[in-house]
Amino acid sequence: MALLPVTRFLTDMTSSHPFGEIKRRGLMLVLSSPSGAGKTTISRAILAADSNVSMSVSCTTRKKRPGEVAGVDYHFVSGEEFNLMVNRGELLEFARVFDNMYGTPREPVEQSLRMGGDVLFDIDWQGTQQLAEKARDDLVSVFILPPSARELERRLIARARDDKAEIGRRMERASDEMSHWAEYDYVVVNRNLRDSVEKVRAILESERLHRRRQEGLADFVRQLQQGV
Ligand code: 5GP
Repeated sequence: MALLPVTRFLTDMTSSHPFGEIKRRGLMLVLSSPSGAGKTTISRAILAADSNVSMSVSCTTRKKRPGEVAGVDYHFVSGEEFNLMVNRGELLEFARVFDNMYGTPREPVEQSLRMGGDVLFDIDWQGTQQLAEKARDDLVSVFILPPSARELERRLIARARDDKAEIGRRMERASDEMSHWAEYDYVVVNRNLRDSVEKVRAILESERLHRRRQEGLADFVRQLQQGV
């Protein structure tokens, strides 16, 4: 299977600075939440607002839902193809979720980070734990909580894209998923979409300024000291 490069590839590989360009390493921004907490909508808003962020397109063995686009929402693969990718070490992380396998293709992510591009992930707590083990310094994790259990259920039903049994299972899993909130760097309660998007963008902006990500800082300060 030919994997598409990370969508909307980045041209701005450095953070601009009034006195020059400071090289920066990209970061991995993970958004996790129970299904129905609004994570997908928040992700789309972040992508639309920030051209230096690209979405990591996962591979999955689950069936395509109506409206989903192969290569954009997911790379839809067979169980055999998925196992091959695992065995070849092509996935940065992978996990079983709701009886299906999901995993993150490694190469597009590593390429983006090297070039100073930030990558957004919509993955579950299992995948987030694996990324934390492999690349803690590159990871910024955000857990999105729904405002209430009633609202969570309402959103799941309103979607009506899954059958009733599936909705019931997801409500059960939501409780499971939410038990992992304390493993995340940040937690946002999604009461209002616009506020939540602003909060995640604020997290992103702050984390970009982290000293360890600004790889060109030492050179820049040296130049300042030398009066260049
Ligand atoms: P859905 O089938 O509704 O698109 O996704 C189900 C769950 O799988 C969501 O919680 C989503 O975050 C998670 N998921 C999607 N892609 C990946 C992935 O590549 N790795 C992991 N660990 N979880 C994923």
